[in-house]
Amino acid sequence: MIKNQLKSCCNSGGDFSFYRCEFEHPCSLGHKPKSCAYDFQKTVPDIDLLRDDCYEQGYTVFGVEAHTVFLSGNIDFDVVGDNHAVSSWKKFVKNNKLKPFLIEERSFNQFQLRSSELGGTCPIEGIISKVSDAYKANFPENTLALVGTAAHALGNTQHDNEYIHNETWNLIDVDPVHRDCYCEKELWYDHKGIMLRGHVDVLLTMGDYLVIFDFKRALGGGYQSRKYKLQLLSYGKAIEQQLNKTFPGLFLITSVRPYPPDKRGRKRFPRYQITLAGDELLKDLDEEILNRFEFQHRAIHDQGDFLDNLKERRETCSGKHCFGREICNDLVGKLEEGHDLEEFLMEEVKF
Ligand code: SF4
Ligand code: SF4
Repeated sequence: MIKNQLKSCCNSGGDFSFYRCEFEHPCSLGHKPKSCAYDFQKTVPDIDLLRDDCYEQGYTVFGVEAHTVFLSGNIDFDVVGDNHAVSSWKKFVKNNKLKPFLIEERSFNQFQLRSSELGGTCPIEGIISKVSDAYKANFPENTLALVGTAAHALGNTQHDNEYIHNETWNLIDVDPVHRDCYCEKELWYDHKGIMLRGHVDVLLTMGDYLVIFDFKRALGGGYQSRKYKLQLLSYGKAIEQQLNKTFPGLFLITSVRPYPPDKRGRKRFPRYQITLAGDELLKDLDEEILNRFEFQHRAIHDQGDFLDNLKERRETCSGKHCFGREICNDLVGKLEEGHDLEEFLMEEVKF
């Protein structure tokens, strides 16, 4: 049933066919809704870059609600727990449905780590992810980063309260909810005095469980990478801390964008990787946070040592897949000239 309800790409006639809209039929019959993704995309910055990337890489974009319908339906997915134990998503879903999880944002004055840097292979990248906007402005924006921002805006935010895509929740008998209530939330996690800051894409519940959902450009192998698990788990812990409660389980879900229909017009579905966080992962998170903090604390307070470390790392690093490559190149020169690392960091970053 769900397969039939979630039809195909936007058929507005404009160049928006990379959006897989669930409301194809009303449009084809001439009843275009008042406010839909077709109108919204005209206001999304860098939408042309996203369009080009979709056509070049062969993927489409969904509204966030469509994922919740898939995940509440009959399709099963592997859930991986501690020690790589695999179980069935359907077994957990049973008669439950995914629902939006509503939370107020809070913020603090200082932080040390970003959730998104956890598990990264290069510790220098963590520092570069926290340079100030003023310093960053000296370098061209990375096209992939702009494409990612546009895809997130189109899928997880909305421009109008009457947005038709909210109504998709009705397909699984959940009251429609504005995307602002459960998407793109800023979260802060105080781990033993080390503050982490991050933005989660989507927060949901499934029965008593909390579901933390993030979109990624690539998922890599069959199961979720350590990097993504640590990032999403830190969001889950931030929410538990904020609410002063423990959920019976935290599901961490990552998804890539779906591919367009195949040559015979059959719709292809997004891929999901799902982890049920356990004690082993929690221990890994604890160690990762402490190690990262220690490295960056040392970098700031012993810059000679950091510069040696940085140069040594760069000898073996091609920088090919690194978003911060240009900043990294520049930073070495600045530190060699005798500048202080803290000069280039965001004001809120304090070690
Ligand atoms: S409802 Fe809007 S986004 Fe969906 S197919 Fe129609 S015009 Fe496109
Ligand atoms: S260019 Fe290499 S050394 Fe520099 S931050 Fe990127 S991955 Fe690390």
